[in-house]
Amino acid sequence: MKKHIHTLAIMAVALNTALAQSKFKEVEIDGVAGFQDTPMQPDGKWHVHDPARPQPPIVTPGTFSQMAPPPSDAIVLFDGKDLTQWVDKKTGGPVGWSVVDGAAVSAKGDIQTTARFGDIQLHLEFREPTPPKESGQGRGNSGVFFMGQYEIQVLDCYNNKTYADGATGGLYGQHPALANACRPPGEWQTYDIVFNVPHFGANGELVSPAYVTVILNGVVVQNHQAFRGATNWRVPGTYTPHGPTGPLALQYHNNSVAFRNIWVRPVPVVDEK
Ligand code: MG
Repeated sequence: MKKHIHTLAIMAVALNTALAQSKFKEVEIDGVAGFQDTPMQPDGKWHVHDPARPQPPIVTPGTFSQMAPPPSDAIVLFDGKDLTQWVDKKTGGPVGWSVVDGAAVSAKGDIQTTARFGDIQLHLEFREPTPPKESGQGRGNSGVFFMGQYEIQVLDCYNNKTYADGATGGLYGQHPALANACRPPGEWQTYDIVFNVPHFGANGELVSPAYVTVILNGVVVQNHQAFRGATNWRVPGTYTPHGPTGPLALQYHNNSVAFRNIWVRPVPVVDEK
């Protein structure tokens, strides 16, 4: 059975690779660049990265707390001083990011924590580059990857349209945010996120998906939303069985996005069965 699942996993990877390599044609609808020849989302209404999918409604945030001291039991991952708890995601070696005026600035490659986490509460603050450059996915792109593979998008979506499933607060390529609560580039913004790990059975079958609740600048933009699997470009999400913990990763996507005040708290879900 295990071998069978392994074969299926290889086939899924091969299919994803084949899809990624086929010639998708970018189209623009109402100023939004995206794709309409990608696979359909399971809802049967929209393609992955469909430019016609409705944009998250703009909600101007109220007041929200920045640079608040972490709770007493928080695991502080970046306090403005150094990135010693992080490594380069690809090489496992030193990070290519720099620390400037108390902020970690993305460069060269994705980074991830040396520590591994399961269910967590995460707080972090991010700042998009100003003046803004480029548009769509090219403007201030980064991302928060739970277990190294489930992305909540970080993008400058202030006066910048992109396909809905790739906007800030979205489960990348899967589920758009409920609202666009972005602050302008150059201003600090907050993410408070609760992430629940997916669970797999003895044969690698999915028992329960990963869930995420996301608060952007004090506004709930995802409410216990399920991931359909690892997030990726132009492909639907697929799950590959994995263990109960994984690293937290931050994306470098050719833009210098700054981060500060990063901390997590383990918040295990109690199984009462
Ligand atoms: Mg991203």
